[in-house]
Order: sequence, then structure tokens, then C-alpha cells
Amino acid sequence: MPELLYLSEGMTVNSLRRGSSRGSFRSLTAVNRAVITCARCPRLRAYCRRVARDKKPEFSEWDYWGRPVPAFGDPGARLLIVGLAPAAHGANRTGRLFTGDSSGNWLYEALHRFGFASRPDAVSRTDGLELRDCYITAAARCAPPGNKPSRTELERCRPYLSAELRLLERVRVVVTLGRIAHDAWLNAAGWWERLPPRERPRFAPNAETRLPDGTVLVASYHPSRQNTNTGKLTRAMWHAVFRRARVLLDR
Ligand code: SF4
Repeated sequence: MPELLYLSEGMTVNSLRRGSSRGSFRSLTAVNRAVITCARCPRLRAYCRRVARDKKPEFSEWDYWGRPVPAFGDPGARLLIVGLAPAAHGANRTGRLFTGDSSGNWLYEALHRFGFASRPDAVSRTDGLELRDCYITAAARCAPPGNKPSRTELERCRPYLSAELRLLERVRVVVTLGRIAHDAWLNAAGWWERLPPRERPRFAPNAETRLPDGTVLVASYHPSRQNTNTGKLTRAMWHAVFRRARVLLDR
């Protein structure tokens, strides 16, 4: 049935790939509605449901979200953040991206520090957090086992990201968190096809690229525990990304 909802928005995967997604999804709300009921990836949907049923002991009192997680933020945002996918006991539990896990602690602290969020932490969908001039989305909207969506799953989810990019008309700076998110954005925005391979912005931490349309792409390691606990991503590197986004937008 979710496939029917998908089509009821007047689109096909091919139409989205051809770039007609904006006409199909009239609003970010419509994208989010379709995401929440999506069932295109049986492996991921089964995993999210299983995690929601079994829970982590420390979250045994929680009623896990257990579904695809929609993007959220300011529809007029000039800063777009692209993550990888919901965390099994983070966004898959709380229903909001980067909410309720250590990656979110890093992200919202930085967003708040540089004026893009109303508070420095995120604990639940009802915590009152508001994003300012910022929108947060992800390459895949369902928590994947081992934090690794397959290539096919990423391709299935890409139309949602493409639709968001067409509806977020004011975005000027894009921060991609990790190589998968970086490549997902390049694909969804059409740059992967339009640019010759040697001109495609390669993923490198804190690398900045200005695309031909003026959009500035800033890459960062993902603030996962694996990166932050090992010092691969330091707080200084992390803050430099958002400080740079603020400078670019304030020019
Ligand atoms: S990962 Fe994306 S395409 Fe796959 S089921 Fe979740 S929302 Fe749908």
C-alpha cells in the first residue's frame, strides 16, 4: 500500500529521476507523509520494527517510533544538513533525525552554538527544539543494520531527497556528514551526472566546494561515536564546519 501512496502523489521513480519531483510532491509535508508510510525496503522495515519491539534495556519505557523518519526543519532554510540514516535506538526510537543519541548531541550543540537551533540538545519529538535557517535530512530514512544501507536501498530512498532539494529553494550551503551522505546529495542534486568524474567534489573532511550554481558543499566526517571517540572527528574540526556555514550565509 505505501507504494500506492507513493504513486498517488502523481509520480514514479523514473519521473523523479528525470527531475519532475517538485510537481509530484507539492510540499515538504507531502514528502514527509510519503516517507513515514514507505515500505520500499523490506529488510530495513523489518529491522526497524524488530528494534522497536526488542528495545534497549535503558529505553524499555519508550514507545519506539519504529518507522521511516521524516526530515525536519525550516522550509525556508539556507543551510541543509544531510546525514546517513536514523540510528536504531536514536531516531528510530524518537522519530526525529539525530534525536536521542550521541551524534545528535554533537550536531545540536554545534547548530545551537552557531545560531541554527533553538537549543543545544534533542531528546524527543516534543522537546520544543526549532531549527533556524536549517533543514536536516538523510540519505536513507530507515535505520539500517550496522548503519549500512545497501546501494539499492539508498537508490530507493533517493527520490525523497531529490524532492526535498527541489522544494528547498533557498538552500545555499550543504553540509554532508560522511561519504555516503556526500555521494547521496551529489546524486540527488543531479551533480553526479552533470559533472565529469574528475570535477565531482570528492569527500574529504572539512573540504569545501562551490558548485556551478553557487551552492557551497562542505563535507564532514559523521559525528558517530566511532569517529568522535577515536578522535577522527574532533570538536575543533566539527565546529569549523558550522562556523564556516555561518560565515558563508552571513556574507
Ligand atoms: S529507506 Fe527510504 S525507500 Fe527504503 S523503506 Fe525506508 S523510507 Fe522507504
